[in-house]
Amino acid sequence: RPVVELRDVSKRYDADRGVVTALDDVTLTIDEREMFGILGESGAGKSTLLRLLGGLEHPSEGTVHIDGVDLASLDRRAMNRMRHRIGTVFQGFNLLGNRTVRQNIELPLRIQHRRDPEFVTSLLEFVSLADRSGHYPAQLSGGEKQRIAIARALATRPNVLLCDEPTSALDTNTTADILRLLQNARDEFGTTVVIVTHELDVVKTVCARAAVFERGRLQEILTVRASDRAE
Ligand code: ADP
Ligand code: ADP
Repeated sequence: RPVVELRDVSKRYDADRGVVTALDDVTLTIDEREMFGILGESGAGKSTLLRLLGGLEHPSEGTVHIDGVDLASLDRRAMNRMRHRIGTVFQGFNLLGNRTVRQNIELPLRIQHRRDPEFVTSLLEFVSLADRSGHYPAQLSGGEKQRIAIARALATRPNVLLCDEPTSALDTNTTADILRLLQNARDEFGTTVVIVTHELDVVKTVCARAAVFERGRLQEILTVRASDRAE
């Protein structure tokens, strides 16, 4: 069952240098529980694609469906509900420095006037930060910060986890830990994980398939054989 479905999607921007085609006629489906890579150099259209998947922008042409729902058809309220089903992990962690680890993880729930303290506790354990729950982000390493960000993204129990260059600020060993954690999130919570990266190695480590983008065009779908993947 496809969780993410792009049909004939193009996205153009009016820029000083004229019209920029950030995405050019992209058709793509991502299945439930898949670890899917979005691979490309700078300017390939990856960030644009993420904004479309998150419903922050709509395509100039074509449709984006998440869980069978056309995002462009949603009004503001319905879009907000849909956002709860989509978690995002950013390259730069985006944590609040004046909030503890636990408070950072609770944030998306608070924004929705919800509480789920037991689940937050289990997320702290899931990312191995239970003994750091009262610490502040500045007291933690880069890998630990990214683990908070992953727990925060999972707090609303999303169907889809969008990860924007989740390892580019991390060293090699920490990168491997974070990728394993994303795989565990898929296994434990059944989340579909989309990883945007410019690094082929990241894709090879955890993704079964990856879409390769070049200047807004989908060039090919890479299939990574299970035997090539570091399990
Ligand atoms: P990537 O994330 O792969 O680096 P982007 O999606 O950021 O690629 O950008 C793809 C192309 O679209 C680039 O040429 C970029 O300059 C352009 N672009 C992206 N967002 C905007 C915007 N808001 N306004 C104008 N041009 C944009
Ligand atoms: P990334 O580092 O993830 O590739 P970018 O640096 O391409 O992201 O884009 C960062 C932000 O700047 C995005 O929100 C995008 O919309 C905006 N942006 C990118 N290119 C342009 C552009 N040419 N004109 C205006 N905004 C842009």
